[in-house]
Amino acid sequence: MVETHTNDVKQRMHQLTDLLNHYAYQYYVLDQSEITDYEYDQLYHELLKLEAAHPSWIRSDSPTQRVGDQLLEGFSKVSHAEPMYSLSNAFNRADLAAFIERCEALAGRSLTYMCECKIDGLAVALTYQDGKFIRGATRGDGTVGEDITSNLKTIKSLPLRLNESVSGEFRGEAYMPKAVFQQLNETREQQGQAPFANPRNAAAGGLRQVDPRAASERQLNIFMYGVAQAGSDTPTSQAQLFDWLKTIGLRSNPERQLCQTLDEIWHYIEHIDELRHSLPYEIDGVVIKVNDVAVQSELGYTVKSPRWAIAYKFKAEVAETTVREVEWTV
Ligand code: NAD
Repeated sequence: MVETHTNDVKQRMHQLTDLLNHYAYQYYVLDQSEITDYEYDQLYHELLKLEAAHPSWIRSDSPTQRVGDQLLEGFSKVSHAEPMYSLSNAFNRADLAAFIERCEALAGRSLTYMCECKIDGLAVALTYQDGKFIRGATRGDGTVGEDITSNLKTIKSLPLRLNESVSGEFRGEAYMPKAVFQQLNETREQQGQAPFANPRNAAAGGLRQVDPRAASERQLNIFMYGVAQAGSDTPTSQAQLFDWLKTIGLRSNPERQLCQTLDEIWHYIEHIDELRHSLPYEIDGVVIKVNDVAVQSELGYTVKSPRWAIAYKFKAEVAETTVREVEWTV
């Protein structure tokens, strides 16, 4: 009886690993989704729980062990100055409470948090040398990404030269505005082409076309929110970082808020959840980050994500009835 249960659990872990890798390939390589992100996250968390209970059965190719994107052929490879990570997820208030408790226990004091919209686009790294834009890349597998410099240059809000002679690798999210998505889909339907499934797929697909004219037609925009290796004068908090990005000419999202407590964070999440349909860009949650950069360094990273940040994910609004059906199909 016990042996049967053990075999079932092991088999389920294999099945979930294969299934999630299949969906990840569709999502990251083909820019397609067979299930909703919410459904993906449910299966991912089922695997995460089983792996926590049975760590010796974790497969090295498990999606929990690496940043998900796979590299497309046809692009040069770019090594990131520092790894580009994923984010761990929170789905409710208790998950956030646990995150805050962990951060503050490790830091040994209460902390301030920057809450930002989680933009549903494609993570990119922009390299500037002495203020000049020299290279842009996708996140890729976190260590190495695809060189999409020509495609990123089609984004009009991306400065080819900064206001200051700064060198560094800046991180952010390229996205398709909702209005562009609607207008492009109307045109595609009139021309008998299949509409894009969502702005995220349309943006990611556009930036990973070999011909930059295809990227240009997608009329993408960009929000920046991070920096790696920019020298000693870099900001000491996430709040200061946003001021600095503005000064040097990089666009970031003004919709953000500093919070001190779980209540404040929760209140902001509720506010953004109400607002999200009126925002001109798609979001799928709120990212909560420890504000102090020195504390961020102290907390460090797991194999996949920073310990100083978490993504609260909104519940998908589409029907979630297919989870059980898809669970056993691969
Ligand atoms: P993630 O989407 O959970 O979070 C990490 C990403 O958030 C970062 O790389 C960055 O690009 C982005 N981001 C947006 N705004 C940000 C901000 N203000 N600050 C920091 N980062 C910000 O993780 P992931 O590894 O990119 O993708 C995993 C997710 O992708 C899954 O949770 C699932 O929702 C989705 N997915 C869906 C399918 C599917 O078939 N539907 C398959 C694979 C993955």
